[in-house]
Amino acid sequence: MFVAHLPAGYLLSKYFESKSKRKKISWRLFLTFGLIGSILPDLDLLYFYLIDGHQHQHHSYWTHIPIYWVFLYTFFASVFILKKNKHMLFITTFIFIDVMLHIILDTVAGGIMWSYPINTQYFSFFSVLPQYNWWVLNFIFHWTFLFEVVIIIFAFIIFKASEIKTSNTLNTLNSEA
Ligand SMILES: [Zn+2]
Repeated sequence: MFVAHLPAGYLLSKYFESKSKRKKISWRLFLTFGLIGSILPDLDLLYFYLIDGHQHQHHSYWTHIPIYWVFLYTFFASVFILKKNKHMLFITTFIFIDVMLHIILDTVAGGIMWSYPINTQYFSFFSVLPQYNWWVLNFIFHWTFLFEVVIIIFAFIIFKASEIKTSNTLNTLNSEA
């Protein structure tokens, strides 16, 4: 997946906001950590382009291997449970869910090592055959790119609906003042 990770993180933040009964967790917090979590695995692109010189495909780096995130989450969640810090436990869990969403979305057309360390086999829901010299075009012109388009359009509709709701609330408050 290329461009729909942030919109997907936004949608997940919106969903959790609507379901949350925790009044202390603000929308801003949901949005901030939702967006960070949704692109966190792709930080390996910096390593890929700046240090590794395109030597390995970026889904082979640890940031795209689910088991490493499970270990990290287990470690930090245990620390926060022991410290009885529910707020940080919630944030850590939310970031972990967003990271997993990223990796699941990357599994649609790109390979992910879901069974690592048992084996190093890449798993994907659909295969994209190499047809263009620039690898990015192989994914953009594949039908699975429609998933990204749908996520982006849906996120845009939800964003616009929230904007209208916020401006209506402000207008009501102003007219009451
Ligand atoms: Zn990715």
